[in-house]
Amino acid sequence: MNMKNLLITAGPTREAIDPIRFLSNRSTGEIGYELAKKAEKRGYNVTLISGPTALKRPDKIKFIVVETAKEMLIAVKKHIKKASCLIMSAAVADFRPKTSCKSKIKKGKGLNLELVKNPDILTSIKKTKIKYKVGFALESDNSIKNAKEKLKKKGLDLIIVNAITKNNDPFGKGKKEISFLSKDGTEKKYKKKDKKEIASAILDTIETNVL
Ligand code: C5P
Repeated sequence: MNMKNLLITAGPTREAIDPIRFLSNRSTGEIGYELAKKAEKRGYNVTLISGPTALKRPDKIKFIVVETAKEMLIAVKKHIKKASCLIMSAAVADFRPKTSCKSKIKKGKGLNLELVKNPDILTSIKKTKIKYKVGFALESDNSIKNAKEKLKKKGLDLIIVNAITKNNDPFGKGKKEISFLSKDGTEKKYKKKDKKEIASAILDTIETNVL
């Protein structure tokens, strides 16, 4: 295990309904791409596994594009073996249509979609030996309490908490309010940090704890 091998996931996943339509979410992938660019500049060997985004592929890193949660899981399992640290910033779609139609569904009178749960990537790799794992929690209620539960359940060392409130929209550009919760119980709250600053703070925390 090379201490400088960093595996990062970013962006949303897309779950096909038919060849034209899909289920997804509002993730832009920005935080994961910022992390990848900054980590490369700090001398890490970065592998970025990305769902579909509108962002430019960062230079000088290993870049893998996936579409669905299942594809992301396969890619994470493959690349985690060589990584010392995983940052799961991807907004993996929690559900996918039970069946995806091969041809375009006609509008007809409407559509009832049956959804099934996607695999949880962090839970699936919980037992993999790795030095440090970072996850994200996007919450609209009881954000700290829910994030603490996720930190434990998903076997994380650090969780970054984004609360969706009237004054804080975690998606896209601008300054965000954010909290860092560590496995050792440390809690840090940051007011008004942009995504570049958040990425630097995450890498600083990893370096303090791992290197
Ligand atoms: O449960 P929730 O989606 O809020 O958890 C967020 C964290 O779990 C993120 O770090 C995300 O990348 C990860 N996750 C995952 N597999 C999923 C859903 C989320 O690894 N199916």
